[in-house]
Amino acid sequence: MLIAGNWKMNGLDASLSEVRALVAGLKARPGLKVVICPPATLLTRVVKEAGSAIGVGGQDCHAKVSGAFTGDISAEMLKDAGATWTIVGHSERRQYHGETDAVIAAKAEAGWRAGLGVMICVGELEAERVAGKEYEVVSTQLANSVPADAASHIVAIAYEPVWAIGTGRTATAEDIVKMHAHIRKELVARFGDAGAKIEILYGGSVNPKNAKEILSQPEVGGALVGGASLKAADFLTIVDAAP
Ligand code: PGA
Repeated sequence: MLIAGNWKMNGLDASLSEVRALVAGLKARPGLKVVICPPATLLTRVVKEAGSAIGVGGQDCHAKVSGAFTGDISAEMLKDAGATWTIVGHSERRQYHGETDAVIAAKAEAGWRAGLGVMICVGELEAERVAGKEYEVVSTQLANSVPADAASHIVAIAYEPVWAIGTGRTATAEDIVKMHAHIRKELVARFGDAGAKIEILYGGSVNPKNAKEILSQPEVGGALVGGASLKAADFLTIVDAAP
């Protein structure tokens, strides 16, 4: 199981004490992979607090190593700051920064080039689900944002239905099971045995109350947690819910 926390553009105050509490809590829970993705400005400080207890990741990376890309951060820079993972293709990047599947695939390649594990996010909009197009949308995102060499690198797929992100509306266990099975089928069709081993995380309003049910579903290999990752106590409850 991989339990990842995405702080998004949060964590200005109190976050390092939360990391300290998290590290203390995780010492008693060996064997689980836990990754925190703080804003880039906090990376080195979180890495220092986290030691070897927690993996640290970026929330995004640029596809190039360096250059005239104001405001961007490369995968190599994340690595240099001590990160071991990066998220790419989060729906907020797709929505607010116009990132296409092709851009996301290039970012995933950049993550691997820098030696990072990469979490690639996919998920349908509410209107797409209402129109019955959720499987088609996710298949297209998988086909075009997951690079052809994904199975030979450290990769996780995060299924995050956009309507469930930050809304308190989690997908039902049945929806999660069906979509994770669909994603698994696509991964196996494309990557064979290696596709059977790729972790599929669920994200979208995972919280201490629903984590146990979500994490116990078949083909759920972990969670990508936003809001509930900001408080160590909540995040530890989610970590504890992993079977
Ligand atoms: P949420 O965010 O847990 O706050 O819904 C999840 C995510 O965006 O990764």
